[in-house]
Amino acid sequence: AVLGKHVPSGSRILVFVRLRPMSKKEKESGSRCCVRIVNKRDVYLTEFANEHDYLRLKRLRGRHFTFDASFPDSTSQHEVYSRTTADLVEAVLQGRNGSVFCYGATGAGKTYTMLGTIENPGVMVLAIKDLFTKIRQRSCDGNHVVHLSYLEVYNETVRDLLSPGRPLVLREDKQGILAAGLTQYRAYSTDEVMALLQRGNQNRTTEPTRANETSSRSHAILQVIIEYRVKDASMNIINRVGKLSLIDLAGSERALATDQRTLRSLEGANINRSLLALSSCINALVEGKKHIPYRNSKLTQLLKDSLGGACNTVMIANISPCNLSFGETQNTLHWADRAK
Ligand code: ADP
Ligand code: MG
Repeated sequence: AVLGKHVPSGSRILVFVRLRPMSKKEKESGSRCCVRIVNKRDVYLTEFANEHDYLRLKRLRGRHFTFDASFPDSTSQHEVYSRTTADLVEAVLQGRNGSVFCYGATGAGKTYTMLGTIENPGVMVLAIKDLFTKIRQRSCDGNHVVHLSYLEVYNETVRDLLSPGRPLVLREDKQGILAAGLTQYRAYSTDEVMALLQRGNQNRTTEPTRANETSSRSHAILQVIIEYRVKDASMNIINRVGKLSLIDLAGSERALATDQRTLRSLEGANINRSLLALSSCINALVEGKKHIPYRNSKLTQLLKDSLGGACNTVMIANISPCNLSFGETQNTLHWADRAK
């Protein structure tokens, strides 16, 4: 991945696909794998078990896609991190902003990719670990300060995941948009972070009918802010700030089918406004439009300074291998294809 080469004017988004393994349950129920990844780039959707004629699939609409990289189900958390996010951590340490999104249907592996488990930590944890390693390598005077905030957007309501309570109000000032009263947790090392994020994740809104299960309509946003001082050419000390946003998006299953409707009918249908607004912003950025409609949702307002412009943006589309999810997988790949 060559980050930075395509920015700042036409902001290019790096788009990756990650296939998750078939679960035990899916295997036992006789599900079949309908996704093939070839050469770590090409993704083929196969409707039938004997469909191995890739040349033929290439000619069919919506059955062959290619991305900056596509990760087969054997790909480790570490490889996903280093291929998608490591360059971005480096850019943030140079005072730039960047964001990484996981997009996909519920059950496709977004939270596994972002948060992961204690044994197999995901992008959020690996990014912070890498950040502290890099800070230690470059400064012995400890002049880097790292703050974390972790929040949720659910039904256009913003909540602090590190200190749950009343909804937060978004305010605009000279620095940009802020969630008033959001906890800024000062982090000194990686060890504390996994537990902190796990706890935060448990504070995400759950669907009333399925207690303990995170709502498929909740977006979780981790923001890592790095402040440090550097000397400029005339030896003046200047403050620099870089911000990394890591986002575990709401499930995409209801979004695409309604892509064409107006925003009003969407609200009636209780469709995820933030997810749609993100799609509109990404499409506008990719098409090089002047006006980017950030104001249409809480999610896009919060990420205004981390999307487009001189920022680096990475999209990881998570997909399931299971033939029962063929339609959702095709929708996700189609969406990701448009973000390229
Ligand atoms: P989502 O957040 O998109 O709804 P999850 O991340 O919760 O989906 O994944 C669904 C299930 O699949 C979880 O049990 C998760 O542990 C498992 N899973 C997802 N991706 C992987 C992977 N790459 N390797 C192993 N297990 C995975
Ligand atoms: Mg999840």
